[in-house]
Amino acid sequence: MPAQSFEDVLLCPNLPSLPAVAMEILELTDDPNVPIKKIAGVVQQDQALAAKVLKTVNSSFYGLSKRCASIDRAMAYLGMNTVKSLVLGFSLVDVAKVTEGTDFDLMGHWRRALLGATAARTIAEQTRACDPDEAFTAGLFQDIGVLACFAAMKTDYTSVVSGAVHSDWEEIEKDHLGFTHVQVGTELAAKWKLPEAVISGIRGHHDPQSVADQGQAMAQAVAMGAMVAEVLGEPLPPGSVRKVSRMGREFFGQRAPDAQGLIEAVTGDAKTLAKMFDQDMGELQDSKRLLAEASERNLEHQIAVQRENDTFAKEATTDGLTGLANRKKFDTELEEAAVRFREHGEHCTVIFTDADRFKSVNDTYGHSAGDVVLMELARRITECVGDDGLVCRYGGEEIAVILPRIGVDVAAATGEAIRACVDREPFDLSNIEDAPDELAVTVSVGVASTDSDTPERYQDFKALLSDADACVYEAKGAGRNRVFMHRPDNGVSATAETPQAGVSASLRVMLIEDDPLAATLITTLLKRKTDVEVQWIESGTRARTELASIESGDASHVDVFLCDLNLPGTSGFELLKIARSIPALHGVPFFVLSGEDETTSSTECLRLGATGFIPKQQFVQDIGQWINVIIRANGDAKAA
Ligand code: GH3
Ligand code: MG
Ligand code: MG
Repeated sequence: MPAQSFEDVLLCPNLPSLPAVAMEILELTDDPNVPIKKIAGVVQQDQALAAKVLKTVNSSFYGLSKRCASIDRAMAYLGMNTVKSLVLGFSLVDVAKVTEGTDFDLMGHWRRALLGATAARTIAEQTRACDPDEAFTAGLFQDIGVLACFAAMKTDYTSVVSGAVHSDWEEIEKDHLGFTHVQVGTELAAKWKLPEAVISGIRGHHDPQSVADQGQAMAQAVAMGAMVAEVLGEPLPPGSVRKVSRMGREFFGQRAPDAQGLIEAVTGDAKTLAKMFDQDMGELQDSKRLLAEASERNLEHQIAVQRENDTFAKEATTDGLTGLANRKKFDTELEEAAVRFREHGEHCTVIFTDADRFKSVNDTYGHSAGDVVLMELARRITECVGDDGLVCRYGGEEIAVILPRIGVDVAAATGEAIRACVDREPFDLSNIEDAPDELAVTVSVGVASTDSDTPERYQDFKALLSDADACVYEAKGAGRNRVFMHRPDNGVSATAETPQAGVSASLRVMLIEDDPLAATLITTLLKRKTDVEVQWIESGTRARTELASIESGDASHVDVFLCDLNLPGTSGFELLKIARSIPALHGVPFFVLSGEDETTSSTECLRLGATGFIPKQQFVQDIGQWINVIIRANGDAKAA
């Protein structure tokens, strides 16, 4: 049972208080018309404080080109808010004195505050989502609730949270105390009359969702900053940098700051600030090492897998669990494809897939259930890709595909086919004890092709990999079970949803063609490039019967017609007319294939309602492009 209630803590006489200067400045700046001179005067009354503010203003943290010798100068150069945020920041040093002479982890506290504040300020600057100075203050003050809880409860509090990483504290406090440092901090900030936006930042620093509308962007900047602080402050498992990046994309979409750049910048700035604040942040994680780890995601896991493989066979190229090619094989193949692209311009596509919420499969049904899911994922994706490319176990639950000779035209359809083949039917877990017989599994898919951006970008295929990978984050952020494809955007790597997303991959095509050779060729090409079921009908007369049974509701549905123009018996023109007269087929795309490129026939077909007129020669030469046209027509028809 908690030693004290939430109310007890808030009424505790030991609670930290804000120094008088800070209170006075908060009160003054409440009035937007207050003259700068007046505020400067208040700061200057405290000589030590004024000196600290000036020293910080002139440090590399603010990057001023001229030195500022006075507080009103500083305000003129940097704005009143910057000076205010520094005054508040230095006040925190006094506030933190409540922990003097105890074994409170003050160093950890400052590390979180300074790193978190620096990161929040940078995030606010880069995203323009909220005011950088206020984000800085909110970052510094995010954990005043921790100071207050400690002041009121001493070891009763520290014994509850010690040993846990900070991001887990809120949950632990809820369980053990019935209230949290977030609630206490928010109340205290309100009592101190900190600006509304700063209070929002404190309130949402663990859960920005909990803050409504206006304050949410601030809460997001502070929460993401806190995550940066955690990554830099404590030895965390590999993949933590990725968490920062994912969080950024979730909160800020395209405007998300680059996680690696952010971490590097924050490390430098926070060290400068720590000096100004005379505070020790302790050892920081080496940001270079962290970033190396991030780019070699799941490295440790890889090495373990690699070692295991190596004991069985020195040059093993397969993954033990799934039988897929392993990372080593993937790297070799990709490098070869990169050479072919650089030297001969041969296109190549990389598809990344990452199982959605896979950890929860392990956590809920055990590791062996997870393993079965991985094996089935590998099987389905391999089946879907067929001979078109190499499927590989890239990391734990990430499967990557290299598709040589394939560019954007077909890539998106293949990505969608992969997503759909996982989503279509639940996975069989009936052999696993304590697991349900069936489990729905989905994957998020990212696609990048050598022609999805400038050739210069892909001189090194690392960019191709990272573009596909970035698309996976996009897909995760957009709700998972989705395909995102890399698209160029003024040179900035941006992604857009594939036009095919959400369209059922298995396309039912009725191919009406009297020439068996042509029919076989078309069917083979279609099947190699996308997930289709082709119903081949050899004669115009039989096609007419088939159409009649669709009209009477006896035949299964058709998504797209591909119909030869010159058929013995009933011609393509007549079939087109019949199809267009059947209400059940209203809107179903009907493409006419012709041996010749005849303008008159083409005009006539389009007049009769054909979706497109395709010379056969063109069709087989550029099947990829036509499949996209067909899939899009089918998508449009379904949407209508
Ligand atoms: P998200 O949709 O965001 O990707 O969620 P997630 O749970 O899939 O993401 P996360 O990366 O946190 O979890 C991946 C999990 O995959 C963690 C790890 O335990 C599990 N995993 C990795 N390799 C294996 C394996 O060989 N077998 C099993 N059973 N699990 C594995
Ligand atoms: Mg906190
Ligand atoms: Mg996953």
